[in-house]
Amino acid sequence: MKLKFCGAAKTVTGSCYYVDTGEVKFVVDCGAYQGSSTQEAMNYEPFPFNPADIDFVFLTHAHFDHCGRLPVLVKQGFHGRIVCTQPTRDLAKVVLLDAANLQEEEYERWVAKVNEGGTTATPEEEESIYASKKPLFTVADVEAIFPYFEVYPYSTSVNINDHLEFRLRDAGHIIGSASVEFWIKNDAGRTRKLVFSGDLGQPGARIVKDPDLIREADYVVCESTYGNRVHRDRNETLLELLSILQVAQKEEGVVLIPAFAIERAQEILYEMNLFVEQRLLSGLPIYLDSPMASKATAIFKQYPDFYDEDAKRLLSKGDDPFEFPGLHIVEDSEESKRLISKRGVVIMAGSGMCTGGRILHHLKNNIENSKTHIIFVGYQVSGTLGRKIMDGERMVKIFGREYENNAHIHTLGGFSAHGDERDLSYWLGSFGHTQTDIHNSWR
Ligand SMILES: [Zn+2]
Repeated sequence: MKLKFCGAAKTVTGSCYYVDTGEVKFVVDCGAYQGSSTQEAMNYEPFPFNPADIDFVFLTHAHFDHCGRLPVLVKQGFHGRIVCTQPTRDLAKVVLLDAANLQEEEYERWVAKVNEGGTTATPEEEESIYASKKPLFTVADVEAIFPYFEVYPYSTSVNINDHLEFRLRDAGHIIGSASVEFWIKNDAGRTRKLVFSGDLGQPGARIVKDPDLIREADYVVCESTYGNRVHRDRNETLLELLSILQVAQKEEGVVLIPAFAIERAQEILYEMNLFVEQRLLSGLPIYLDSPMASKATAIFKQYPDFYDEDAKRLLSKGDDPFEFPGLHIVEDSEESKRLISKRGVVIMAGSGMCTGGRILHHLKNNIENSKTHIIFVGYQVSGTLGRKIMDGERMVKIFGREYENNAHIHTLGGFSAHGDERDLSYWLGSFGHTQTDIHNSWR
């Protein structure tokens, strides 16, 4: 058996692991690199394997850094199966279509600008510039991967053939997220068990269930995004969020929340729903200005079986956790532009790291105002605008212009969809507690 780390090594994006069992070749995740332009350029590099040789992709979840290069893989000859849960399939389609649309729009804008300004480049130079600006994939490329999806429930063992068996387990990270267990049998009849954690959530997180604990493995490949950190207490985080909202409402300031469209946006809506239901907050207009988050929320609503007990209980009492008085869903860009004149409101808009999307317009309009609050609720990759604002840089560039950062900046660590050092140790600690494993370890 060969295992190769093809991404997310010494960095947190671009997840992709290649496994060759001798009989079957598969990858776990096929994610895109995100962050600085150097990182993103790595998405155009060839895969360190031949996509046409790959029999399966096991997709742990729908975040772009885990699914973002699937269209490229298919374009380059992959014709196997993409194995995942139902919510992962549906969310991955939304994520990839959104990314394709953004890239196509960006490319068209760039071409129009070049045509307008004229160019002094030679035809050869021009060709290479055009090639470097071409989208990584288009909407048509994304649609081409749809037939390859094959969905499975959690906790059900599936025999691929005599040499490979797998089982998806709940990773508790985002809805539909999975860890994957593999049983790999060699010709001599010896079975080895390999486990990939995928991204692991925090036990006790909203909406999703706690990560399943797995008892046995010969090899475990575990994520470690927050392996060196302990998250802040969740209740403290909630109190901090509530107090920021109350202060902003009183002072008629604007609260901007760069939204990660999947899971985090729904989690924040869930908490705000509880604030409103518990009458801790009232009369504060909250705008969800992210078409992708709205689409993702609609998918969440389709899969209540994947919710944890608390979320199911709310539903059974007739309280939709993603709907409450004061919440406005902004769909078209005209409505989004009209938010400019609003004061004393909360605006959640993408992208989560401020690398594009409607949040840029809202930042441009509000970042110089000292009554503005910007709340970061998720990881900001180094090099992104979100990271620069979070780090308190005095001047930040938005749409090519410098703006003075006068806003109150808040980083709410307790919302992370990733387990921290304690959570990862707890998850890893569940391995090897059986008699068989103790016995094996002495051999
Ligand atoms: Zn993730």
